[in-house]
Amino acid sequence: MSIDESGDRGATPGERGAPLVDSLEGRVAGRLIRPGDAGYDEARAVWNGLVDRYPAAIVRCTGTADVVACVDVAREHGAPISVRGGGHNVAGTAVCDDGIVVDCSELRGVWIDPDARRVRVQAGATLADVDRETQLFGLAVPLGVVSDTGVAGLTLGGGFGHLSRSYGLSCDALRSADVVTADGDVLTASAEEHPDLFWALRGGGGNFGVVTSFEFEAYPVGPEVMACFVVHPAENAPELFRKYRAFCADAPDEVGLLAFTMWVPDDEAFPEDARGKPGVGFLGSSIGPTDEGAEAFEPVRAFDTPLVDFSGVMPFTELQQMLDEDYPDGRRYYWKSLYLSGLTDEAIETIVAAAETAPSKLSTVDVWQLGGAISRVDDDATAIGWRDVPHMLGIEANWDDPADDEANVEWARTLWAEMQPYSPGGLYINFPGFGEEGDDLVRAAYGDNYERLADVKARYDPENLFRSNQNVEPST
Ligand SMILES: Cc1cc2nc3c(=O)[nH]c(=O)nc-3n(C[C@H](O)[C@H](O)[C@H](O)COP(=O)(O)OP(=O)(O)OC[C@H]3O[C@@H](n4cnc5c(N)ncnc54)[C@H](O)[C@@H]3O)c2cc1C
Repeated sequence: MSIDESGDRGATPGERGAPLVDSLEGRVAGRLIRPGDAGYDEARAVWNGLVDRYPAAIVRCTGTADVVACVDVAREHGAPISVRGGGHNVAGTAVCDDGIVVDCSELRGVWIDPDARRVRVQAGATLADVDRETQLFGLAVPLGVVSDTGVAGLTLGGGFGHLSRSYGLSCDALRSADVVTADGDVLTASAEEHPDLFWALRGGGGNFGVVTSFEFEAYPVGPEVMACFVVHPAENAPELFRKYRAFCADAPDEVGLLAFTMWVPDDEAFPEDARGKPGVGFLGSSIGPTDEGAEAFEPVRAFDTPLVDFSGVMPFTELQQMLDEDYPDGRRYYWKSLYLSGLTDEAIETIVAAAETAPSKLSTVDVWQLGGAISRVDDDATAIGWRDVPHMLGIEANWDDPADDEANVEWARTLWAEMQPYSPGGLYINFPGFGEEGDDLVRAAYGDNYERLADVKARYDPENLFRSNQNVEPST
């Protein structure tokens, strides 16, 4: 199984894309990478090894003018176009077949105004790029939990992470965005300018144009935080999740904790006697005073006798990088999500049973703790609703052998279906599987906000030029 099963492709990619390449030549300043060029295969590869697409041209943009040129050429030719930030979308939407990839990966500038606590971030920056610069001033933007993820896709889809319960989602911290629209116009969207577009960009994904830079509000964080990273044995997994449920119900906003099923990796970073054992992991942080954070996490570390306990005070940047090695480029991944109305005993039993039968020991089932600042934003204030749910479920099938594709995808889909009774509806668009449910998936993700998104789409992209994404179709 692969995301891309288009079969016989007829003419070679080079032949099909020749008119596009001719039009781009001379109009872009950045490197233009065509089929057959050195580096083409590396440039079309994304994080998920299941993705195997053949664009006609990849443009390593040097700035906004290149983005405008790509958009103009795609529109003039009626050609597919996709936008690459950090290349970490699970469905691989950063690359398209036969079209133009607007590759922003070399646009990684981050500028800080520490007095105003404002941060401007270019479209190809990773979380690590932002954390590194903001932490110079004791500041941070609420972003995700793996530092080599792209800021662009993460923010446009929402953005959940360690700081969400204190400061909201990444898209909540967005104050303005510079956008190239389908017409090739360059706009600034903010609460004051193009507020409809600004609303849609906060969670509505890459549907509305190419964002060339993001302006965020930053918040005081660190430089040191108390991190909790403990793995307990899985023998009493249901009891561990029940303790987690009680912990979350009482936790203050500055504390956030993720619970996940796992197998301790066969890796020398982990104690030898724990390797290969099934466990339930808890990863979280407190951004309050570190002694108070240590006290807050004491009960979690004592839920059982840990197999592994890496908890302690550490630089915020280290916390942000803690999971990086678990998600190497090129591995095979299929991730889905749904929101949970609560973590009932039945939901816990379903999660634990599924974890035991996962075909791959690299896979995890994650329960995110939401609430806090996330829930103090109205459902219709941004494109992301479902603000008052206490938890999100992430189902991560992760594996290496192509022969195991079907079993792993099927495992994730089955658990997703089994968990539906515990969901009020809704899912996080940035964990979309292959996006194979199409319109149904996107409607389910946005719920009551979908029609408004479709109206904004009709205003800014009536021909649906930007459709290599979790697509919102323009209203008619
Ligand atoms: C290892 C890993 C960890 C993750 N952790 C978290 C997490 O902690 N929290 C969380 O919320 N999510 C998380 N995610 C999900 C992540 O938010 C999405 O995968 C997101 O799409 C990644 O953004 P990207 O820029 O790297 O993606 P890309 O694949 O580069 O882009 C994805 C899509 O975003 C849009 N896009 C990208 N750049 C632009 C732009 N400049 N203008 C307009 N549209 C654009 C396009 O539609 C594009 O197809 C994680 C994903 C991975 C793989």
